[in-house]
Amino acid sequence: MKVLVPVKRVVDYNVKVRVKSDESGVDIANVKMSMNPFDEIAVEEATRLKEQGAATEVVAVSCGVQQCQETLRTAMAIGADRSVLVQTDAELQPLAVAKLLKAVVEKEAPQLVILGKQAIDDDANQTGQMLAALLNWPQATFASKVEVSGDTAKVTREIDGGLETISLKLPAIVTTDLRLNEPRYVTLPNIMKAKKKTIDTLTPDELGVDVAPRLKTLKVTEPPVRSAGVVVADVPALVDKLKNEAKVV
Ligand code: AMP
Repeated sequence: MKVLVPVKRVVDYNVKVRVKSDESGVDIANVKMSMNPFDEIAVEEATRLKEQGAATEVVAVSCGVQQCQETLRTAMAIGADRSVLVQTDAELQPLAVAKLLKAVVEKEAPQLVILGKQAIDDDANQTGQMLAALLNWPQATFASKVEVSGDTAKVTREIDGGLETISLKLPAIVTTDLRLNEPRYVTLPNIMKAKKKTIDTLTPDELGVDVAPRLKTLKVTEPPVRSAGVVVADVPALVDKLKNEAKVV
């Protein structure tokens, strides 16, 4: 079974992003970029499936600028066997990424695609669902456990108020939630080994995909600054404030 893992290059989760003064977006010049954390979980899960003997090959794919190669090298240091870069400088929205991934799926013919549940930059939570719709494949989003046996995947999903376990016929789409696994540390020997693995480069034109944006960002602004809290003397003072200032009781 071949597993395809789409990985996105995003601003590192430790970076406090700043909004551009013209409100057109966030400033990513000279900012540390890393693999989207949910995608690390996806690569880890695919690697574990290979280690268990359920998968035979793990292929990472990234869509975006040339520097996405670094993200693919990290995926290969975790355990992916090889990579595909769909290289473009164009701004990619989830629908465009889903169309590019559909074209890669048609070329690679994987039985399972494991994506992150969302990218921490746009927080869209759309690509996996759109890819499932475009391919007409079953999907299990927000996975916290994945078991593959034969041509079936049993996936436990995190839903409001509990866990849901569903069974999917492969080929299928899975998106990862935080508790699915804890990605391994990337070791130096594995980083060195990853340098020798292949990255095939394609373009949206070669895949016949139009990536023109369908959505327009009107503006991006900082959230309102939170005002400082106050310490109240006792419970009656708290109740008074809740009643007369916050007017919530
Ligand atoms: P989103 O729908 O943007 O929140 O992204 C959900 C998931 O889709 C991510 O966790 C990735 O697995 C995948 N994805 C999104 N954008 C890209 C991209 N440019 N290249 C590869 N995978 C992507």
